[in-house]
Amino acid sequence: MELLNGKELAQEIRVDIKTEIKGCMIRPSLAVIQIGDDDASNVYIKNKEKACQEVGIYFRHFKYDDDTPELSIINKIKELNNDEYVNGIIVQLPIPEKYNEKRILNTIINSKDVDGLTDINTGRLVNGKKTLVPCTPLGIMTLLKKYEVELEGKNVVIIGRSKLVGRPLLSLMLNENATVTICHSKTADLAEYTKNADIIVVAAGVPKLLTGDMVKKGCVVVDVGINRVDDKLCGDVDFDSVSKKASYISPVPGGVGPMTIASLLSNVMTCYNNKK
Ligand code: NAD
Repeated sequence: MELLNGKELAQEIRVDIKTEIKGCMIRPSLAVIQIGDDDASNVYIKNKEKACQEVGIYFRHFKYDDDTPELSIINKIKELNNDEYVNGIIVQLPIPEKYNEKRILNTIINSKDVDGLTDINTGRLVNGKKTLVPCTPLGIMTLLKKYEVELEGKNVVIIGRSKLVGRPLLSLMLNENATVTICHSKTADLAEYTKNADIIVVAAGVPKLLTGDMVKKGCVVVDVGINRVDDKLCGDVDFDSVSKKASYISPVPGGVGPMTIASLLSNVMTCYNNKK
């Protein structure tokens, strides 16, 4: 069994981006909009800021109270859309339920949508067109490519159908000519699907959901989950039992997490370079 070492690959990507930015006349820039004070969001935003600073991307954080009128948020996004020095815009999810998430996300101009979540960019991805791809699925595809995991004609099972991970990954895998099955919380018998899978991506948020008896020998397993159990970080895969059968497996931490951040930096650079 070999580890899909996302930490190492992400570091390589960050070094390349840092070098590229050293040669830029104008610094690329990322704007993050936060509504409310969600603990996890605070941590994710800090991590993004750190990563941006490390490579030289100018990071701007706009934090709003959760009683801010939706129109003020929309107007800020429009201002950022028109700001030629802003290359990427993120609205940190989740946002409080009272806001119209779709309307807010769709205000982001498609060319700065580094999370790849506007309806237009989502549609482009579904139709196999070149577009900005959500960071976690993009990171997974980059990781699999690095380890030369063949996708064409392979049976891929994705556990989880979220708009951030499972759904965009379905399109990306289809675009690579894989045979893709999506499983989710209503799937009656997960093992029935995973046992025949060559590649399994688990993004459910359920600790140790995938166990060794559910996979076939030689399969490739990507663990997207981030869970805290007994104050320790763990994924959705029972690493001990699955690693005995898998040919490749991504660890948690050190797998998909760092790739997500590296993909965000890559997406900012894509927007920056598209503007030239
Ligand atoms: P989500 O809660 O939006 O979606 C979870 C999905 O899993 C749903 O589609 C649900 O149907 C499915 N699911 C839940 N329980 C299931 C079960 N028992 N069997 C089968 N399917 C089940 O979550 P998300 O945003 O896609 O995130 C999933 C996990 O990945 C979370 O742990 C999250 O923290 C993590 N995550 C990690 C990264 C990263 O960079 N590593 C990025 C995004 C999300």
